[in-house]
Order: sequence, then C-alpha cells, then structure tokens
Amino acid sequence: MLAPGGTIGIVGGGQLGRMTALAAARLGFRAHVFATEADSPAEQVSAAATVASYEDDAALDRFAAAIDVATFEFENIPADAVRRVAAAKPVMPRPEILEIAQDRLTEKDFLRGIGVATTDYREIADAASLGCVLAEMANTIGDRAVLKSARMGYDGKGQFTVDAATAPQEAWRRMGGPRGILERFVDFRCEVSVIVARSADGATVIYPPVENRHINHILDTTLAPALLPPETVREAETIARDIAARLDLVGVLAVEMFVTRDGRLLVNELAPRPHNSGHWTIDACATSQFEQLVRAICGLPLGSTERHSDAVMKNLIGDEVEKWRDAIADPTARLHLYGKRTTRPGRKMGHVTRLLPRKS
Ligand code: AMP
Repeated sequence: MLAPGGTIGIVGGGQLGRMTALAAARLGFRAHVFATEADSPAEQVSAAATVASYEDDAALDRFAAAIDVATFEFENIPADAVRRVAAAKPVMPRPEILEIAQDRLTEKDFLRGIGVATTDYREIADAASLGCVLAEMANTIGDRAVLKSARMGYDGKGQFTVDAATAPQEAWRRMGGPRGILERFVDFRCEVSVIVARSADGATVIYPPVENRHINHILDTTLAPALLPPETVREAETIARDIAARLDLVGVLAVEMFVTRDGRLLVNELAPRPHNSGHWTIDACATSQFEQLVRAICGLPLGSTERHSDAVMKNLIGDEVEKWRDAIADPTARLHLYGKRTTRPGRKMGHVTRLLPRKS
C-alpha cells in the first residue's frame, strides 16, 4: 500500500492528469507529471514535473526514480516509454493493457476473444486491399463502413465514413496510418459508456452507464445516468466488469458502447484511464473517477460510487471556453477549466457540470 505522502507519477500532462493530480493532492499524495511540454494542465497543479520527450531514456529514469507508483493519462504514449518506467516502478494499469487499447485491431480482437460483441471489422493493410474490400463491401461489411487508423486515433482523428463509391487511394491517404481497420457502420440509437474501477485484490466498483453525445466526433455532452431499460443497464455493467476482470485491471477503465436500434450493446472502444464521460462524477458522486484511480493504484479501498445527483456535463470546446463567464455566474453550474493558454478549434478547454435532482 502507498500511504498519503507518497508520490504518484502521471505520464501525460493533459486535463485527465490534472484532475488525477488534484484528486491525489486532496488525499495528501504528491503528483509528479511526465509531460512533453512545459506548463501543461497537469503540471500546473502538481508538486513536480519532468518535461522531456518520451524518447528521452535518462529523463524517464529520473522520473521513475522520483516516484513510488505510476499511471498514465492518455493512450498514445509510446509503449517503450511506459515499459521503461515499469522496469523501475509499478505502473498501473499494467503496460500490456495500454498496448491493447493503443491498437484498435488488437483491442477488437481481444474483445471478440473474450466473447464481447463488437461491430464487424477487418484489418486493412494498404490502399489496394481497401479497394478490394470497398468493391464487394455490400456483401461483406455493409453499404457503409468507417475506416479508422489502427493506431494513434482519438476524437475522430484519422477516421471517416466510406462506401462503395469512395476512392481507395484518397481514403487511404486521408486515414494517414500504416494499418487501418474497416468497421461496419453502426446505426446506433445512442452511445453510452461505463466506467469501472478495480483494485489488485479484484474489488470492483462501477458507475452507471451514461449517454454520450458527440459533435464532429468529439464528445460534447454526457447525460448521467443514461435513460436505458434496466436490463440494458445490467448488461452494460456486466460487460464492463467482465472486461476489467479479464484485463486484470488495476485502475480505472472506460468502456464505450453503441446501443443499436434493436437494443443490443456493441463495444466500440476501451480507455484504461479516467474518461471524459466520467467528469460528472467529480460533482455528482461520493468518489470521483479520479479519486478511484488514486485509490486503486495506491492499494487503498475503493470509494463509494453513490450518486447524490443526476448530472449533465458539457465540454467547453475551442471558443466555447468563453462561456465560462456565464457558467461562473450560474449557481447550478460547476465550472472546470484546464488552464490551457491557447484555444484551438476542437481543443477541450474545460467543462461544466450541472446537477439535477436524482430521478431513480
Ligand atoms: P472512436 O474514435 O472509435 O471512439 O469513434 C468516434 C465516434 O465516431 C464514435 O463515438 C461514434 O460517434 C463514431 N463511430 C465510430 N465508429 C463507428 C461505427 N463503426 N459506426 C458508426 N459510428 C461510429
């Protein structure tokens, strides 16, 4: 067990690292951030920071020497960097889980392998094989499909919808990765996610499924909880618990799912870290997803996920950050800003959570 006073290393300097560091500080831990840029959102609220590239082995070793335990706050960290830290100090979730989540093909193969339903998909190795698949797609993967880069994709980057009329060379170039995955287009009723926290002894706590609404592939709003039939809620929670157990997760995992028009659940993505769709837990639950992560990796008992309110979380994306003036004057709004100095279209600058009386 790592007691308060210990140092938690956080690889990655974004807002998820920032909110993890704040939760760690509240429990008396010190956060030490490894980030590639100075003055990152996480560094601003942490006791210490190492600012270096993920290829800088000496810096990774210095970071590892300064911490007691490490976690990571986003997926696209080179696996070698995480493994180097793991050779010196415990990294949780374990690096193998990160590697599964870093590659959409490995991730979907893993899910299928443990019996979890996903949309149909296939690996695409190059533009020529994309051309062959597009030519006969109506008989195989459906009239419409989503081409995604297997690696390094997030917030819809490196992915778009294709059909039989799509020019394969152009699509391959736009996708931009060395390997692609082509997925059957899911005509979903809604998108939901479930966040689960698990500790080394297998103890597991779970938050209810929430509904996520995207604009331009970026999460815009989360409604907590999702309005789903009770059996769908149970099924979603069972799927998330099962995945966490099969991964032997220590930490926090978000499981993103589609609810199809006929009520089935198809898992789209895993994120072995706190997730944007769990930000509402800071203001509406006894224990936030960030505090659960700190507890899990320090070997402390997990907290209660009791929800005292329902919530609507709205991301402040790009220029929407200017809405902070309204939010701060609104007694029903809880404003969270990430300290980013430059605003760019599509950049997550903060979020606002509105609490509502609990309905169920
Ligand atoms: P992802 O990066 O896989 O989370 O995808 C981002 C968003 O694109 C999802 O939240 C969906 O809104 C949409 N999307 C991704 N994959 C599919 C699919 N196979 N069918 C329909 N929509 C999808």
